[in-house]
Amino acid sequence: MGKPTGFKEFDRKKVPWRLPVVRINDYDEIYTEPRVEQLKEQGARCMDCGVPFCQSTTGCPIDNLIPEWNDLVYNNRWKEAIERLHKTNNFPEFTGRTCPAPCEGACVLGITNPPVTIKNIENAIVDRAWEEGWIVAKAPEDRTGKKVAIVGSGPSGLAAADQLNQAGHLVTVYERANRIGGLLQYGIPNMKLSKEAVQRRVDKMTAEGITFVTGVNVGKDIQPSDLQKDFDAVLLACGATKPRDLPIDNRDAKGVHFAMEFLTANTRQMVHNESLEDGFISAEGKDVIVIGGGDTGTDCIGTSLRHGCRSLVNFELLPKPPEDRSPDNPWPEWPRVFRVDYGHEEAEAKFGKDPREYQILSKEFLKDEDGNLSGIKTVNVAWTRKDDGGWAMSEVEGSEKVWPAQLILLAMGFLGPEQYVAESLGLEVDPRSNFQAVHGKFTTNIEGVFAAGDCRRGQSLVVWAINEGRGAARAIDIYLEGHSNLPAPGQTMGTSMEVGV
Ligand SMILES: Cc1cc2nc3c(=O)[nH]c(=O)nc-3n(C[C@H](O)[C@H](O)[C@H](O)COP(=O)(O)OP(=O)(O)OC[C@H]3O[C@@H](n4cnc5c(N)ncnc54)[C@H](O)[C@@H]3O)c2cc1C
Ligand code: SF4
Repeated sequence: MGKPTGFKEFDRKKVPWRLPVVRINDYDEIYTEPRVEQLKEQGARCMDCGVPFCQSTTGCPIDNLIPEWNDLVYNNRWKEAIERLHKTNNFPEFTGRTCPAPCEGACVLGITNPPVTIKNIENAIVDRAWEEGWIVAKAPEDRTGKKVAIVGSGPSGLAAADQLNQAGHLVTVYERANRIGGLLQYGIPNMKLSKEAVQRRVDKMTAEGITFVTGVNVGKDIQPSDLQKDFDAVLLACGATKPRDLPIDNRDAKGVHFAMEFLTANTRQMVHNESLEDGFISAEGKDVIVIGGGDTGTDCIGTSLRHGCRSLVNFELLPKPPEDRSPDNPWPEWPRVFRVDYGHEEAEAKFGKDPREYQILSKEFLKDEDGNLSGIKTVNVAWTRKDDGGWAMSEVEGSEKVWPAQLILLAMGFLGPEQYVAESLGLEVDPRSNFQAVHGKFTTNIEGVFAAGDCRRGQSLVVWAINEGRGAARAIDIYLEGHSNLPAPGQTMGTSMEVGV
């Protein structure tokens, strides 16, 4: 514990984002350079409590050694801090930028005061380590001669690849997209996680001996059975890529798109300068409606603003969350409270109002005689408690409304992985169509085939994908060698945290 009285002396101060009116003019990251003194003060606020709830089942899913690196930052020992951070987290720059920080919701200081800015400190440690040149490629000294194929290059596939490679196995990662990273590359926009930060890690891993193969769709271009023949183990880390649709009237109107179509094309054209004549979806000069919240909805808002949309509304089906924790959502659970994310802040700066409209049910898309989207009809809904404690939704009579729109983006979550790989292998799936494998074991019903990340647990978070990738790597290492020196997964499932994406 760096400074015993730190939590009494210093208030919580977050590293500010760039000004919204400035940052909506570019796709650069929203973050500003942190002040070292401020970070040290925040490190000093950590009480190093006997039981660090930030590392408990409701806190950090990868068991980051938070009090330890808070203390090291307070004492200016940054190089040791990154060593400590890398013990549990392969990619702190991904979580430091994108994680909703369940650790902060579980911080003991948070019972009486605003919590320590753990996520800012994590990000600052790893950014400094890259700047100082402390993160360098280090290939394993010994190879086992065993080969592992990983299908999917999102954070779960990457974390597994990194761990298995360090354990001496020869790893090949297959990715159907033209770039590595999964949703780190083509879901989360550049302003939240720069693609240079993603590529920098991929380059390091390549230098360490991992083979990345892009543009190969396993199940279409090559068969999973080929991988079973050529490799000693196969890990499926395919993500939960099936989007939830909104099958109301006129769904075929030109101008209704899934969020991922919009976001992927944007990153390819606006960040990577690929010329996508057909695929690019522009929001410029349009009335845009984003249906659904969470990270995906926010990213659609931020991207539409950068295109120069004329107006922007975000529909939410549920009521506005409370400002503070409700009695049935106590510490150290993830606080289900009202939050203003970067996209909301930017929309308010541009249009003078938070874009979110709550308790709205979409009834019908409207289109003109050429089939172009012209708007959407909605009705307000009320939520009432049922006798069994659940919630019942009812439409509010007379609340029908027509909203003009030329672009509507569907950001209503995901329904599990696409099924063609599972079908080809004869893989069992669970009732939600996720690949069936128990957390901690990660084995499927097929000998030598493992599953991890969103394709196993359903759409989740980057930090959970890293947890699963690390856990699956250990399980595969044990399968191949009979034992493993790789660390066990941070935690078992069962966090009470639910964050929409
Ligand atoms: C728009 C958006 C924003 C998000 N923002 C955040 C955020 O801010 N913070 C956060 O914590 N989480 C966020 N999430 C969730 C997070 O990105 C995911 O939980 C995480 O990326 C899951 O990792 P994964 O490795 O399991 O799968 P993915 O990242 O989905 O990667 C799976 C990869 O597998 C590839 N693949 C699939 N099938 C095949 C095949 N047959 N052959 C070859 N390749 C294949 C896919 O192309 C993809 O690249 C967001 C999600 C979305 C959609
Ligand atoms: S990975 Fe997420 S939960 Fe873990 S310490 Fe970082 S911000 Fe907190």
